Amino acid sequence: MPWFRKQKDRKSEPVPVEERRVKTENVFVKCEECDAPLYKRDLEESLQVCPHCGYHFRLDAPSRLSMLFNDGVYEELDAEVISIDPLEFTDTKPYPERLEQAKRVSGLPEAIIGGRGKVGDHLVFAGAMDMLFIGGSMGSAVGEKITRLIERALRERAAVVIFAASGGARMQEGTLSLMQMAKICAALALLNEARLPYISILTDPTTGGVTASFASVGDIIIAEPKALIGFAGPRVIEQTIRQKLPKDFQRAEFLLEHGMLDAVVDRREMREFLIKALHFMVNPEVQRQTPTAAHVSGDGNGASGQQAPNTRFKVQNSKSEV
Ligand SMILES: [Zn+2]
Repeated sequence: MPWFRKQKDRKSEPVPVEERRVKTENVFVKCEECDAPLYKRDLEESLQVCPHCGYHFRLDAPSRLSMLFNDGVYEELDAEVISIDPLEFTDTKPYPERLEQAKRVSGLPEAIIGGRGKVGDHLVFAGAMDMLFIGGSMGSAVGEKITRLIERALRERAAVVIFAASGGARMQEGTLSLMQMAKICAALALLNEARLPYISILTDPTTGGVTASFASVGDIIIAEPKALIGFAGPRVIEQTIRQKLPKDFQRAEFLLEHGMLDAVVDRREMREFLIKALHFMVNPEVQRQTPTAAHVSGDGNGASGQQAPNTRFKVQNSKSEV
């Protein structure tokens, strides 16, 4: 008796020609700068920086925070603060629809996420913006989240680190978006008075009202290589001043040369750089002597929190709309 018997009625179907190829989608990506094919896993290991040419791929906000904190561990803060539609704004589609779409695409509740955790020996409150959420635009909820982050840092006497990536203020919230510029800077002034460090990191791209406010007032301002940083876009400036702009205008290296930045730091060295900077800036002796800032109320919402009558954002899972 044979060990195996061929079943006569079962035919193996030939694979059609168009499917006869090794499936490599989602395994390789092409470097946008040098066109080199990159193995996705290698790219992840090099923190989304091309190992051949050093091109920095854009990064989502959760990855940024994981790369920053010790062992990637942090406590997410104020995830319940999200945008509402205070102006009932409609452009090509209604603003609430746009918000829903942004949440789906980015998997985030807002254009920024905030976290509390340790960076080296230091307690840090960090925020990271995400371009996938309506171009990383700054609406009322983004402003509120950053302000709360700063107020928490004041209460716990910690440092603030913010990774900016933004197209600017969110036009669907009009002037309310612009008010966030002043609001965040006012909170940063308190941080400054309390002698606590604020490190601003500009990533590709940082433009508009974000550049014009909190991103540019760090105690140390760092950028990633070749990041686009500016207020208005180069085309708008060229049309306004009717002049050709210099090459690499608004790139991190150009801005460093012209004194707008303190350093351009490779992403793979960013964490070590920040730890060194925090060691330099945070003097434990001074920390012990300075009393906790008196301006900040202890209720968890601070000076700009829920008492403010005109605040335009919503706290999710809470009945009070403020
Ligand atoms: Zn490359």
